[in-house]
Amino acid sequence: MTQIPTEPIGSIPRPAYLQEAMKAFSKSEIKESELNTLFEKATLETIKELEATGSPVISDGEQSKPSFATYPIHGYPHLAADGVVIPFADGHTRQLPKITAGPFRYQTFASSYLEKAKRYTLLPVKQAVIAVSAISLLYPPEGIDGYAQAQFIVDLLDEAEKDIRKCLIGGAYNVQIDFTEARLALKLDPSKQLLNAFIELNNKVLDRFTEDERRRIGVHTCPGGDHDSTHSADIPYSELLPLLFKLKAGSFYLEYAAEKEKQSVLKSIKENLQPGQRVFLGVTDVLNPRIETAEEISELLIEASRIIPLNQLGSTDDCGFSPFADDISTARNIAFSKIKARVDGTALAEKKLNSR
Ligand SMILES: [Zn+2]
Repeated sequence: MTQIPTEPIGSIPRPAYLQEAMKAFSKSEIKESELNTLFEKATLETIKELEATGSPVISDGEQSKPSFATYPIHGYPHLAADGVVIPFADGHTRQLPKITAGPFRYQTFASSYLEKAKRYTLLPVKQAVIAVSAISLLYPPEGIDGYAQAQFIVDLLDEAEKDIRKCLIGGAYNVQIDFTEARLALKLDPSKQLLNAFIELNNKVLDRFTEDERRRIGVHTCPGGDHDSTHSADIPYSELLPLLFKLKAGSFYLEYAAEKEKQSVLKSIKENLQPGQRVFLGVTDVLNPRIETAEEISELLIEASRIIPLNQLGSTDDCGFSPFADDISTARNIAFSKIKARVDGTALAEKKLNSR
């Protein structure tokens, strides 16, 4: 009996009432306790809707995460606004903050989200954490007086290890490291030095876990969806995948549905996937509002199974549906419909493959 596991990436667009409350809170118009009540309400509603899609593994939809990348530093007292700028294809940018003093400590660990989510569901909950490579970008190139970059990295690796370990101990079904800057690194530095440095840094964290633990740790990468635009979709996968699979993780959640040259992506995955690793292919395009049919998703997976061994194949969405809290470009109901299509399409592929 063939089984194709299916999992979400993480984020779901926040409901309008939560968007409004977050804005009101930023202007000091409502109290933090009021905002927290609405975070709870949105988390509960999101979990119930995810359960209703039939998804065997769920997330909290990241309703209360400030963003997939910045939750650890939310409230860090030594921050300045003018950090690294990430340019997107449609011309918009996201600017990361930079730190101005040490010692660097995470203000929030992802396990705090997991703890809350587990109160609302009996289903397995996956928890996303940010890659250490992304947080490493917060150290300014000009340096910090009295806090050397080397010491920052030592502190950061300890914090990132804690971030993952607390989720594993807290009962996460698995932990997904969001490594969305992988393909961007190739765009910023075609010599691949930056990507290699990122992978080396992430492996320093992964090395701190046993092989058993690493089976519950995965990596997500994509061309960086935000406001329906990407930052690095023009970089071919074949440049990225040979290096990506060097990460010592058990699962890889890859953007795939929006890829044009699918055959060459599959070939590259097959060539580079290591024994014991599983690849979860994105079967829903999160940047396109059209809802895929279960039939076309099952065809996509059956086609993939001709190249990738079935016991190393799974399905997922191309990305989270709203990685930044203020991104409402994909409506909430579209996200749930796409997730349902993924769950149904994956079950259909299983059924067809088993009846052969
Ligand atoms: Zn993504």
